[in-house]
Amino acid sequence: MSGVKSSYDVVIVGAGVGGGAMANRLAQAGRKVLVIERGTRLPREADNWSVKAVFHDRKYSTRETWRDRSGAEFTPSTYYYVGGNSKFFGTATLRFREQDFEGMEHEAGRTPAWPIRYADLEPYYAVAEKLMGTHGEQGLDPTEPPRSAPFPHPAIGHEPEIEAFNTKLKAKGLHPFPLPVAIDLHAGGKCIRCRTCDGFACKIGAKNDAEVRLVDPALATGNVDLILETYVHRFLTDPSGRKVTGVEIEQKGERRVISGGVFISSAGAINSAALLLRSANDRHPRGLANSSDLLGRNYMAHNNTAMMAVNPFKKNHVVFQKSLCVNDYYLKNEVRPYPLGNVQGLGKLQGGMLTANMRWVPESLMSWFAERSVDWWIMSEDLPDPNNRVTVDGDGKIRVSYTPNNLKSHGELVSHWTSLMKSLGYPIVITQKMDITVAMHQCGTARFGSDPATSVLDSNCKAWDLDNLYVVDASFLPSSTAVNPSLTIVAQAVKTAEHLLQ
Ligand SMILES: Cc1cc2nc3c(=O)[nH]c(=O)nc-3n(C[C@H](O)[C@H](O)[C@H](O)COP(=O)(O)OP(=O)(O)OC[C@H]3O[C@@H](n4cnc5c(N)ncnc54)[C@H](O)[C@@H]3O)c2cc1C
Ligand code: SF4
Repeated sequence: MSGVKSSYDVVIVGAGVGGGAMANRLAQAGRKVLVIERGTRLPREADNWSVKAVFHDRKYSTRETWRDRSGAEFTPSTYYYVGGNSKFFGTATLRFREQDFEGMEHEAGRTPAWPIRYADLEPYYAVAEKLMGTHGEQGLDPTEPPRSAPFPHPAIGHEPEIEAFNTKLKAKGLHPFPLPVAIDLHAGGKCIRCRTCDGFACKIGAKNDAEVRLVDPALATGNVDLILETYVHRFLTDPSGRKVTGVEIEQKGERRVISGGVFISSAGAINSAALLLRSANDRHPRGLANSSDLLGRNYMAHNNTAMMAVNPFKKNHVVFQKSLCVNDYYLKNEVRPYPLGNVQGLGKLQGGMLTANMRWVPESLMSWFAERSVDWWIMSEDLPDPNNRVTVDGDGKIRVSYTPNNLKSHGELVSHWTSLMKSLGYPIVITQKMDITVAMHQCGTARFGSDPATSVLDSNCKAWDLDNLYVVDASFLPSSTAVNPSLTIVAQAVKTAEHLLQ
């Protein structure tokens, strides 16, 4: 392992959104940082935009399998690369709502209040939007929280098909608004506004993912070493158990320990939980940072449904469909006296994307539907439940025991949006609810809080049980909310980095 020093100021596990943002902020301030990533750089190549390669051959997703509650094995749609899952993300970069931080009453129960309020995170959201290069328009989202700064870039604009929806939805009394997105689409930007963005990697590096916007600029400071194809097995502590002294890593079959001052687990909500559980020792018999017995628990991933609204008589020529968003049902609303969730454009579906999970259906049939459909992503909050949890089986395999909840309100949102689509001239509506394999919005496995008995991390994402261990990825979220998580992960990382620098 040439080029790797034996000790660093800060050691970060994982080069995704959380780890990338931490490395970026700490390196800019002159700290010597090591980032350890199990994956490689994702090659920029033609297959990045190939439906066959991405959806049928699953060329880029992990081959690893996890187990569900019953013990059945499944292959998760998760990605191990520099940039983590953001290499394939849909670039929706929304702030959470003020109410999300305060706890909300849902049909199936109440979400917990966060240890911080929206106002505490607002300045960091402004930095996060700049880091991610978000495009948006202020003042149209009815649930939009206050902002101290405008969006870094103007909204990308709707194509004619989506602009028509914008108008029709407004005529129905709704308040559609431009979905904030992180693509390099403005004067001088690299984005060519293509059809293969959401769920694909960008062949030309124009998607503002964690590799492009966070990790590479961190490396450019000269203060960061990044090692690839290196798996972190466990954290090691001193005899008191209060201090992490090193990480045990494996690269090409060779194991060694690297020491450092501060350690940050940014391996993603499922892998961070697994890593800390694997790090159990005499002082931490249930796993590191787990005196509360909450590590790995309260796993959430959203209730997600993809919808195709088909007008058999009208082709949809849209290229970049993920430009419109509706939050009229986010809080209690005219349809139901409780929150239902968020609706946003989905990257344009193509026939081959649909047949990847229905191989017996002719692709020509699905292409016929896809050419005539407008596609939506319908997302509702799932509630934290301690019995929904990540554990590590005796053979080292990850187990995700998850039973979805708050499904009534999700079903109501799907059925309301279905009726709306039919009333707007789209008589055929096809929906697919995402299952446990779609762990894209995984979160909650090391919630932050203000009481060590009811949380794993403090409000700076430091493990209550240790003096120098932080978890900075989607693990810290005490509630999943009903908007996409990555901007909030970046904002909290910026806040945690500032705390560390102080
Ligand atoms: C198809 C898709 C679409 C999405 N669309 C959106 C969207 O539009 N908007 C949005 O906000 N979010 C979206 N998401 C979700 C978003 O990408 C994630 O919430 C976010 O990337 C999570 O960041 P993270 O830092 O928590 O973890 P990750 O991105 O999972 O990063 C963790 C990193 O740690 C590495 N790692 C894991 N274990 C180890 C180990 N033991 N040793 C070394 N390295 C390790 C992994 O390889 C990975 O690089 C989408 C995700 C997918 C897959
Ligand atoms: S829309 Fe732009 S950022 Fe997205 S994949 Fe295409 S070129 Fe890349």
